[in-house]
Amino acid sequence: MDNKIKMKLAITISSCLAVISILLANRYRKQRKRKQNLSSCYLKSEAKPQHNFKRVLANNSYAPFKHLKLDDSCSDLHPYESEIKALLEKPQVEFEFFNGSMDMEMSDKYVWVDDESKLKELVEVLSKERVFAVDTEQHSLHSFLGFTALIQISTREEDYLVDTIALHDIMRILSPVFADPNICKVFHGADNDVIWLQRDFHIYVVNLFDTAKACDVLSKPQRSLAYLLETYCGVTTNKFYQREDWRQRPFPIDMVEYARMDAHYLLYIAHCLVSELKLQKNDNSASENSACLDDKYYFVFEAYRRSNVLCLQLFTKELEASPGQSAASSIISRHVNDHKSSTNYTRFQELVRRLCSWRDLMARMHDESLKYVLSDSAIVALAENVPLTATDICNTISQADIDTDLLNSTSNPRFPSSVVLSHLDDFEYLFQDEINNLDEMFQLILKKHLGPNGSCPFSLYNYGLLSKSNDFKVSKRLVTKENGYKFSRQVARKASRELFVQKFSCKSPVYHNCRIYANDGRLLCYCDRRKLEWYLQRDLAKLVDEDPPAIILLFEPKGRPEDEGNDFYIQSKKNICVGCGEGNHYLRYRIIPSCYRIHFPEHLKSHRSHDIVLVCVDCHEKAHSSAEKYKKKVASEFGIPLFVHKVVNSVEDQDVSGSSASVMKLGDGGVSPLELRTAAMALIRHGPRMPPKRREELKEVVKKYYGGRDISEEDLENALLVGMSPHERRRLRKKRGMSLNSRNLVSDKEFDSPDKALTTDMEDGSEFNNNETETENTSILDPDVVGSSAKQNGYIGPSGNEGVFATCSSKLSLLGHGPHGKQVVDFLLKEHGEDGIREFCQRWRQVFVEAIHPRFLPAGWDVTHRI
Ligand code: AMP
Ligand code: MN
Ligand code: ZN
Repeated sequence: MDNKIKMKLAITISSCLAVISILLANRYRKQRKRKQNLSSCYLKSEAKPQHNFKRVLANNSYAPFKHLKLDDSCSDLHPYESEIKALLEKPQVEFEFFNGSMDMEMSDKYVWVDDESKLKELVEVLSKERVFAVDTEQHSLHSFLGFTALIQISTREEDYLVDTIALHDIMRILSPVFADPNICKVFHGADNDVIWLQRDFHIYVVNLFDTAKACDVLSKPQRSLAYLLETYCGVTTNKFYQREDWRQRPFPIDMVEYARMDAHYLLYIAHCLVSELKLQKNDNSASENSACLDDKYYFVFEAYRRSNVLCLQLFTKELEASPGQSAASSIISRHVNDHKSSTNYTRFQELVRRLCSWRDLMARMHDESLKYVLSDSAIVALAENVPLTATDICNTISQADIDTDLLNSTSNPRFPSSVVLSHLDDFEYLFQDEINNLDEMFQLILKKHLGPNGSCPFSLYNYGLLSKSNDFKVSKRLVTKENGYKFSRQVARKASRELFVQKFSCKSPVYHNCRIYANDGRLLCYCDRRKLEWYLQRDLAKLVDEDPPAIILLFEPKGRPEDEGNDFYIQSKKNICVGCGEGNHYLRYRIIPSCYRIHFPEHLKSHRSHDIVLVCVDCHEKAHSSAEKYKKKVASEFGIPLFVHKVVNSVEDQDVSGSSASVMKLGDGGVSPLELRTAAMALIRHGPRMPPKRREELKEVVKKYYGGRDISEEDLENALLVGMSPHERRRLRKKRGMSLNSRNLVSDKEFDSPDKALTTDMEDGSEFNNNETETENTSILDPDVVGSSAKQNGYIGPSGNEGVFATCSSKLSLLGHGPHGKQVVDFLLKEHGEDGIREFCQRWRQVFVEAIHPRFLPAGWDVTHRI
């Protein structure tokens, strides 16, 4: 280098440094200010596009990546291994890559795919193609593992740019076309793309033609895409764009051009290369072999074979014995000559190890690349100088980066990363002499940042770092009781529609769209807050997002809905009436009446979210009345009456479900809880002043319930509670100052205990918040229902000893249809087994559909849903 240039460089550097120092000082001051405001981590005020992802397959934990599991086979295998191996043995080579109609000029026309419908259209198009070309663009600076920011797909007719940031969570709907062995995918240099697609979307490529592999087979002088574009298409490219920030939206026009170019010409290039491969002379195949190996295709086969070998690769996370230690070893070995003689060599090595460990953890925690958090040269500089003040630390880092940037001839000066700037106080600790071992240090840093009062936010990427150190407790930010969705306690006076809406529609959104993630970051379901609280209180989950809240389970859930190809449970449900779309009020409606459902075998019961929908009052009324009609139809079809005909007063007669000896005839009376309660109430209030005839009539009603025996005052009081929920019973008891013998009541606690549905059963995940266990749909227009007890729960049933309320099964008298329900279910199980139940459910869904012709059912809902 001549002296003039050296001088110039020196001046440039020093002026650069001066500017940087000033900038740094400013930035540091700002940082300090921010710290005083207690928002220590830059991520608390900075949004990253990947934070909107709801499905993260590869998180930043030290746990291995989980590949797609197609069946019960071992998960370490490639899910499409047999398909790929079949292609290796017998490549399909008769693809027509080019049909002359291709747009060689590349017009302005292309398709920007950024919503679900467009993506589905694309899948539709691709599934009809026999070949298409693919390329992907990644973002890797502000991400630990990197993520796919764009996929370019070109058919012979069209260029598609798929916004994989907007569509990240649903990209896997492209999996089938990528895994289809009958569709050939053309890439150039697919080595990385193949595993990136696995990492981000569980997309596995089966049947690949890699134009770079074809170059190898043809022994081309170069194998770059730029070379091929120039040679075959006469276009020049600027690979500068390769390193653009592909997260930006919208793309500037030249980035669009560049991106399209990477895929647009691939089919034509593949066509040219295959033609050349066919022309290659096969010197290898001896004449005796030529009978079994088609000479013409020998090299084509070889290019295909080498391509499809790439498909067998599997994405894996790089795992090391101790975080950051392979980087540390490499840095140390690179600098061994500078420090070997130094007395501080041991200290240098130790500091490099600590800094690398810290960098590794911080990069994972903030989802940043190692390179961004702290460069290798900055680590060396810090370990050499051990700066003690914050300003010195910043200066040391910038200086080191400037030096390397000058060497690499990239010009813009670098500052310490936001990670360093917002966690400068970590260095004080890192440089301490007292640290005993790396592991201890690691745990401390982890706790400081992600612990209960940690400085950094949880994310889908970093929560997994805690899984091996579960002693951190997430502050219980969600435990405040949510009362919003409880039904209003206001007592309705009139059976008006308004009152009903007010009283029974849901006061806050039923679907809170809280999310539950599995411990590998995959979305399991949407649910309400209560469910999140349940897990958090038991330390079974960690909070990873607050608005709307999301948790990550710390245990392996029993199942994953998507594994069964069922998206239903992970769809965000809308808070609108499924019938007409009304969004101002809605209430839950059980499509399968509870009087039947509660008698289903446990495993058939658990799929509740499918059969509970939101409806507005009008649709509710329609659905309810047609369900009531249908119940009558069921009753006559099965010969099982709806109401308890006779209620027992002795242990022998207790068998109200009358399994086989069903002598009850339809229409021969029976008493509904409603009728019973109305009669009892009238007798208590006005009995003495009533005309005797009316009094006797009402008494008959009550007597019917008690099996015809004479009734006492207490019997009347008890009759008021029939068919009520524990909550309503309590309320009524309080109101009436009743001293009911609670010993004889079915324990309230039994029903108020934490929802038993809160298990790990994920199909139940989108269950609604329900304080009641089972609730029957009730008629809205029945004044008595609105006036007294619309939520009729049948915990209390007829029973013989002591009082009416003794120990009978809680399942026996829901709305008075309990026994009917039980008999019907028993009959179905006996005659048709579980298929009988399934078919029965389908009938109810059909009834519902015919009653309100729902137009807003969630996608995936259907009458024939199987469990
Ligand atoms: P390509 O296969 O050329 O489309 O590149 C795909 C992605 O790989 C790009 O979006 C970049 O993220 C990354 N990439 C490829 N080459 C480089 C490079 N030389 N430097 C940095 N990133 C690269
Ligand atoms: Mn590209
Ligand atoms: Zn942080």
